[in-house]
Amino acid sequence: MKLSRQAAIWQGKCPCCREGEIFKYPLTSLTKFGVMNKQCAVCETSFMPEPGFYFGALYVSYAFTVAFFVGIWFLLYYFFQPAKWVYFVAIISTSIFFIPFSFRYSRILFLYWFGGIEFKGKN
Ligand SMILES: [Zn+2]
Repeated sequence: MKLSRQAAIWQGKCPCCREGEIFKYPLTSLTKFGVMNKQCAVCETSFMPEPGFYFGALYVSYAFTVAFFVGIWFLLYYFFQPAKWVYFVAIISTSIFFIPFSFRYSRILFLYWFGGIEFKGKN
């Protein structure tokens, strides 16, 4: 069964074969969510195209954070118009809650966009 590119990104699969896992542990693993496999267990593609590759993922992560801030501010402002401290608490707690999501998807997207790995399928 071949996953679409979007499904493979969403599920954190290898960009080359879309079968192997990029990360070792599930997103919900609070202490190990950031541990990556060095290479794909299925097709042996390296997930580290060059040293320091994932520094660039910080920019993707930054974009996620800004999107969360704006999204939460927008929802609160238009639906509730709460006191100022509510914005602070909601934005800070949501960004902490989304750290694993932001960390993983910034790396996954960065690998797909800039890793120079083409989809080849299993064979
Ligand atoms: Zn693979």
